[in-house]
Amino acid sequence: MHISSNFDSGNIEVISIEDIRNIRLNIRKDTKADYFQWFHFRVHDVKGYPCKYVIENANEASYPEGWDNYKVCVSYDRINWFRLETQFNGKELTFEHTSEFNSVFYAYFTPYSYEQHLDLIHAAQISPLCVIENIGLTVEQRNMDLLIVGNPGESKKKIWIIARQHPGESMASWFIEGFIERILDEEDPVSRKILQDAVFYIMPFVNPDGAISGNLRANAAGINLNREWANPDISKSPEAYYILKKMDETGVDLMLDIHGDEGLPYNFVSSIEGIPGYDSRLKDLLETFKKVWLDTCPDFQDEHTYPVNDPGTANLNICSKQIGHKFNCLSITVEMPFKDNNDLPDPVYGWSSERSLKFGGSILQPILSVLKKL
Ligand code: ZN
Repeated sequence: MHISSNFDSGNIEVISIEDIRNIRLNIRKDTKADYFQWFHFRVHDVKGYPCKYVIENANEASYPEGWDNYKVCVSYDRINWFRLETQFNGKELTFEHTSEFNSVFYAYFTPYSYEQHLDLIHAAQISPLCVIENIGLTVEQRNMDLLIVGNPGESKKKIWIIARQHPGESMASWFIEGFIERILDEEDPVSRKILQDAVFYIMPFVNPDGAISGNLRANAAGINLNREWANPDISKSPEAYYILKKMDETGVDLMLDIHGDEGLPYNFVSSIEGIPGYDSRLKDLLETFKKVWLDTCPDFQDEHTYPVNDPGTANLNICSKQIGHKFNCLSITVEMPFKDNNDLPDPVYGWSSERSLKFGGSILQPILSVLKKL
């Protein structure tokens, strides 16, 4: 039996595999940083063995509450990822599995690789509605791919959508794929209507370096990009620097930043209530956006969320807060669960790639509802 993680977004350290009823593992820390929680590994020569896996350092992970009621994702074909019963005793994360095949993958959530990202954007550029633009290079010199959807023009509303600032939040990529599929669907009346008045600037994969390395939160310089937006450093956080530079060029009327949350088993948003310029116009936009999403998508809810910032107390280093502040616009962080949506649970798959994809498509309706008032 062998365990490996030397592939895109692989992360595990093997402590011992001598006893298949007590396979000892650790999750590796992010590049040049102390964050960790994402794992993704392959076990081979394992068919029929009743293995018991123990992740020893689970309680030291960035969000230990993320392990309560969590179920590990498993796949034999790397397409269908189902869930396994998983225990957390306050220290170690444990799961038992007898593989039906000789090679099996385990992950924190259904992965979404850099190659999938390249496939996605190149399929998208075949549409007459979409072009790819390179706006800069990451720390490890990967292209920063921006998709422009729709015809830019003075009168058009500029809508930015970014995903995967946090590399371990792969559900954000599935969300973006669902969004791109729908916005490029020329037979979808909501998309057609939106594109009459808006142009989209979409960054599907802000932090490919961190994702390929199997990180949870950091880029290749060890930086959590979502605390860099007040004044990003071109050498340590070029990913935020170049996006902000491009936003200065285009302007921003609405910004959506797509994430996953380790702890809360719900879909929710976090917005700009605490920025200095939050006023009745922004409040009305936010409330309309949330109400229409609630009315049209049962996977969205607004009860279980982060605490709303008091006036003037927003952390302007966070992307959605800074962009809302800087451009005086509606700006929203979207959070999806790693576990499940407890309002509509699925015992086999939990929150999944397919559900994230559909959730990404569902955001068009609330966008349409606020478009004229942006
Ligand atoms: Zn995040």
